[in-house]
Amino acid sequence: MSIQNTHIEVNLKNLEHNLNFLRKKISEKTKILCVVKAFGYGSEPVEIAKKLEENKVDYLAVAYSNEGVELRKSGITSPILVLHPQIDDFDDIIKHKLEPNIYSFRVLDAFIERSKNEKEYPFHLKFNTGLNRLGFSFKDIEKIHTKVTSYSNIKIKYIFSHLGASEDLNEKKFTDNQIELFEEISSKMSTIFKSEFKKHLLNTSGILNYSKFQYDMVRSGIGLYGYGNDQNYDKFFKPVVNLKSVVSQIHKIKKGDSVGYNRGFIATKDSKVGIIPIGHADGISRSFGNGKASFIINNQEAKIVGNVCMDMLMVDVSKINCSEGDEVIIIDSNNQNADQLARKNGTISYEILTSLSNRIKRIYIK
Ligand SMILES: *Cc1c(COP(=O)(O)O)cnc(C)c1O
Repeated sequence: MSIQNTHIEVNLKNLEHNLNFLRKKISEKTKILCVVKAFGYGSEPVEIAKKLEENKVDYLAVAYSNEGVELRKSGITSPILVLHPQIDDFDDIIKHKLEPNIYSFRVLDAFIERSKNEKEYPFHLKFNTGLNRLGFSFKDIEKIHTKVTSYSNIKIKYIFSHLGASEDLNEKKFTDNQIELFEEISSKMSTIFKSEFKKHLLNTSGILNYSKFQYDMVRSGIGLYGYGNDQNYDKFFKPVVNLKSVVSQIHKIKKGDSVGYNRGFIATKDSKVGIIPIGHADGISRSFGNGKASFIINNQEAKIVGNVCMDMLMVDVSKINCSEGDEVIIIDSNNQNADQLARKNGTISYEILTSLSNRIKRIYIK
């Protein structure tokens, strides 16, 4: 019998498959950093991190320091890069042996100050090469050198940058320019510091499309969770997250009856409506309402009717042979994966996955 509740199956075997696939794309010498930010892209970070450690990955990364602290408290010992630290975070970062991304002089100054009792505390120095998000610029290198070499309490462990369009081959020129600038920055860094730095640049689509520039380490997030930002790549990955639910109740309604808040749906004929215990608070956006998305019940498509509520939504099951208690498939690789669902309201797999709320029960497939 199927599980009588909304639940996420987190398939750790698929995670391993995806990791092995990504590893085949890079040299054995290249390290791999696994991004487990945003609740492990919505799956669950601790079980994911444990499975990755079991598979001897080199690094983990989170966006914010509290995500790294959670992992440490759960016994995760791998090096953890914090991608977007704030100056208030450095005490926690140091206490829990997390490695900060240092992306500006303001953050560098705070880090120097807070780490004054440390010796060669490792950090990753980030350069902006065109994404115009976080990072220092080429022209900052001399000043970085002056500051960093004045303090023995901190030490650059890696220099890195981030590609803005590695999944889009129409933007190859833009990406090539980013890579070229990163090369120039790297070479200027080694000239000024009179030493070589280890480097990382590529995200998942970078690994798939620009593997030549893997340097010393690559960083993968979405690929580990089973998506390649391209249908041609998706087939090599196996989605880690399946989302399933159940039919809570079925109503027979008459022509002219309405369903849900603000009478979002008015029946044009006698119909049957199924109530599903998942809503916009769980990550099924209100924008999927009124027929934008559908789910699978007994191998048939059931369209959402009316507005998605906070904790539930309604689907049209007029033509579906189903009963209360039957399984509802919302996301799974055979029917509708997160990327296909994402297209229905103009978003991307990343947003669908990371929106899945913590209150949904996770079940682990080991
Ligand atoms: C989130 C993130 C990644 C992971 O990107 P994917 O496209 O999910 O592989 C890599 N690097 C940085 C800096 C990130 O913020």
